[in-house]
Amino acid sequence: MASFHTLDDLDVANKTVLVRLDLNVPMQDGRVTDATRIERVAATLKELLDAKAKVVALSHFGRPKGKREASMSLAPLAEPLSRALGGRPVAFAEDCIGAPAKAAVKALQPGQIVLLENLRFHAGEEKNDPAFADQLAALGELYVNDAFSCSHRAHASITGLAERLPAAAGRLMQAELDALGSALERPERPVAAVVGGAKISTKLELLGNLVAKVDLLILGGGMANTFLFAEGTPVGKSLCEQDMAATAREILAKAKARKCEILLPIDGRVAKEFKANAHSAVVPIELVPGDGMILDVGPGSIELFERKLGRCKTLVWNGPLGAFEIPPFDEGTTQVARAAAKLTKNGSLMSVAGGGDTVAALVHAGVLEQFSYVSTAGGAFLEWLEGKELPGVAALHQAR
Ligand code: AMP
Repeated sequence: MASFHTLDDLDVANKTVLVRLDLNVPMQDGRVTDATRIERVAATLKELLDAKAKVVALSHFGRPKGKREASMSLAPLAEPLSRALGGRPVAFAEDCIGAPAKAAVKALQPGQIVLLENLRFHAGEEKNDPAFADQLAALGELYVNDAFSCSHRAHASITGLAERLPAAAGRLMQAELDALGSALERPERPVAAVVGGAKISTKLELLGNLVAKVDLLILGGGMANTFLFAEGTPVGKSLCEQDMAATAREILAKAKARKCEILLPIDGRVAKEFKANAHSAVVPIELVPGDGMILDVGPGSIELFERKLGRCKTLVWNGPLGAFEIPPFDEGTTQVARAAAKLTKNGSLMSVAGGGDTVAALVHAGVLEQFSYVSTAGGAFLEWLEGKELPGVAALHQAR
């Protein structure tokens, strides 16, 4: 059972419900280029509208730094939001507080929705200014947070509202917290993590947290080179943070102490140039030539990783295993991702992935829909992987 309220716990009929969404979608020339985020919040909004709530949708957009910026207005989002809601009209208010917001909220009938202008047009949002949070809270009676991707920020619309109004998680937030909970907090074991990407220096906290929680840590990508180098394996001209060797050894030692098995690549796809379709060869990892770069894991590593994953019940994945943007160095990431997708489909693996390039890599592999859960939350997902409690999630727990 969730340790936070969900929509199931709220009686929303005829009540004004403030719903924090993440409508920070990619836009070009005032048009939404990818509506995924809008579609994902539709379930919560529809449920509230069907239950005859008066819905007040809140979001930020971009980084206007406390000033009104026409290019960062949420006005162009009203129509796509309406489309995602099956054509229900979405009103728009030109400010998120003050007279325009009050008037728009007052005009709402049960089952109607208004979208308020960009929260970050007011500096009080990011500062979590109590006076600003009070003004927002005064607009409604209940608060729903459906923006996991913003919940690593203690902003007024995230923590301030949860502290001021009866609060609950929206359906998207609930699904994200449930998926993440079953991946690391109460997982079925053995639990594996696949961590790749460019550097270990950007993922130190993440690696430190994971070695304490997972049974198997599969390392690939540029960061695996640093671990190989730290263990005395020459990596030629590969991306490698030599000054992080001692840190890499500390992580290996911590893993050993915590009985976390670490798997490094046993072979690599090596090229002399970092470009698409560069001439490349597969070499055993101890034989990387001095002028070569490991740009992907080799077929032996892929086979090994797949075999080991086959014995696991839970998987958490962040970061590509190679330079997946340039073929043929996408092969390792794609193959292992497809193997994980297949295990998930068979019902033997619960797979959660997310963070930055990982979503792009899974899209590239064609398996985005086949993982148990893919988080598009970026920074919030990474902070969760680092073992940090997200302020917005903590506020929901405390709201109980
Ligand atoms: P990150 O943002 O840390 O997850 O890193 C993702 C980036 O790491 C991607 O752009 C990949 O191309 C890059 N990358 C992964 N493996 C390698 C590698 N072996 N050599 C160079 N870059 C890599």
